[in-house]
Amino acid sequence: MTKTILPPATIGIIGGGQLGRMMAIAAKNMGYKVAVLEPTVGGPLAQVADIEINAPYDDVNALKELLTVSDVTTYEFENISSETVAELSEFGYLPQGPRPVAITQHRILEKTAINEAGYDTAPFAAVSSNEELLAAVSKIGFPSVLKTATGGYDGKGQWVLRSEADLEQVKSVVAEHQCVLEGFINFTKEISVIVTRSVHGEVESFGAVENVHENSILHLSTAPANISDSLAKKAEAVAKGLMEKLDFVGTLAIEMFVVGDDIIINELAPRPHNSGHLTMDGYNVSQFEQHIRAVAGLPLVKPRLLAPTMMVNLLGQHVDYALKMWQQPEFGWAKLHLYGKDEMKRGRKVGHMNFVDVDKDKVSKTVEKFLTDFPA
Ligand code: AMP
Repeated sequence: MTKTILPPATIGIIGGGQLGRMMAIAAKNMGYKVAVLEPTVGGPLAQVADIEINAPYDDVNALKELLTVSDVTTYEFENISSETVAELSEFGYLPQGPRPVAITQHRILEKTAINEAGYDTAPFAAVSSNEELLAAVSKIGFPSVLKTATGGYDGKGQWVLRSEADLEQVKSVVAEHQCVLEGFINFTKEISVIVTRSVHGEVESFGAVENVHENSILHLSTAPANISDSLAKKAEAVAKGLMEKLDFVGTLAIEMFVVGDDIIINELAPRPHNSGHLTMDGYNVSQFEQHIRAVAGLPLVKPRLLAPTMMVNLLGQHVDYALKMWQQPEFGWAKLHLYGKDEMKRGRKVGHMNFVDVDKDKVSKTVEKFLTDFPA
């Protein structure tokens, strides 16, 4: 059953953080109403929502209430139980279903699904005990990266292992958590592609974006990625092909390592992604509007980069500096997006700035200058 849902219908969003907020703003611009379910009162999405339901994400009655007041419901993150999502279908319309969540919240299922679809990941082995860790190390070798299979984000729950001596520090981790050991990839670049698939099966992708991480948290994204045309085409073909094979609806963000002319898929997210925030100002359609179109059954827009764009992520410790710089004409043309978080916590994402101009040099030189005294 697929439907087309027009404004002023209500879009329900499970999760009330910045991704949900930016989805909601896109939806409201089109005239939809927005309902949110999240545990805390007055969070980033709730500040712009029409209906706020406060309850834990595993509160099935509250989820049913959200689906009941909404004409279509989506999620802004993958860390809800897929069993709970599966149970909800009889209470309302959740066209993405549980599969995108079930697969992407578990690194082993995710990598297996990518390989089965015919695409490359780093070599990996499942690890849930010390014996399995030793067996995995003898298969994968050093250096390698140990990651918890579930629950990790922004580099949390991961350890780079360079020699036998590093095994000691992860003994308790593998004893307590299902993990995956993966080969360390000496990548040339990190890129990502965001692809959207509507309830009617239409697929569109944004072009490859180049990403720089600091302490495993996204720091800078650049579009277009500074890669060859053939590699850019390959990245988009991988993204669209994977989305078709996985048969998901909604948004899929695909983080990739570039190694020479090859693409290795690192990680998937079944939702809009931090590396797609530059689409808000640099493209003819944002990843958030495209996501709403996909779940509402509207035609997708063919994404087109309007001008070279760079995004600088703002963590809690960066905001005072960014606001000071933004008041200067030299940087004041950057598009500022703050998420309405009540605390500017160190290491937490609280906003971003998009620098867009037809002059690519102006963009990169301004960003370079902007970052000169960027707090660590
Ligand atoms: P993840 O949480 O899997 O997205 O990893 C966060 C960041 O850690 C990535 O963006 C990479 O910079 C780095 N990383 C993760 N896995 C690997 C790997 N297998 N080889 C090299 N670097 C990695």
